[in-house]
Amino acid sequence: MAKDSPKPPKTTPRAPTNPTVSIWAAQCGKCFKWRTLSTQEEFEEIRSRFAEQPFNCDNKPNGSCDDPPDIEYDSSRTWAIDKPNLPKTPSGFKRELYLRRDYSKMDAYYVTPTGKRLRSLIEVGNFLQNNPEFSDLSVSDFSFVSPKIMDDTIPSTAVVANSNKKGAPGTAK
Ligand SMILES: [Zn+2]
Repeated sequence: MAKDSPKPPKTTPRAPTNPTVSIWAAQCGKCFKWRTLSTQEEFEEIRSRFAEQPFNCDNKPNGSCDDPPDIEYDSSRTWAIDKPNLPKTPSGFKRELYLRRDYSKMDAYYVTPTGKRLRSLIEVGNFLQNNPEFSDLSVSDFSFVSPKIMDDTIPSTAVVANSNKKGAPGTAK
């Protein structure tokens, strides 16, 4: 099934021990097939300039729209779709995404080259101020915008758990 807009997604596993991203993928703007990407860096590179340069199958080595999809969008795994044109993570930093156990959202963090975890733009601003060696960076190089969990790919057990919570709207978005 082709999604209406070819935004680069990331997919997340269901393993409760490490609910983070296991597969990175982007959707071809021509044939709408999903192509897996080997690294988070490759994914972020595509995402950072997605509006100006939509992803196509032939961006991959030996890639072609004639090839079968690498991965299908379906409920066999939970999908989360990112917004286009988020900044690429600065060199030396690591951007991590964790899926909440109730599948309500993913939380974004940055880990600095010194191993410190930053949870907000305020923390990023303080870190940059206190570490002049990163004076070439600004808070605009960071984003805590997290990908949207696709409701139709959330496992039914998680939906049940979610709807049992007081006041939780279940799968409503
Ligand atoms: Zn294609």
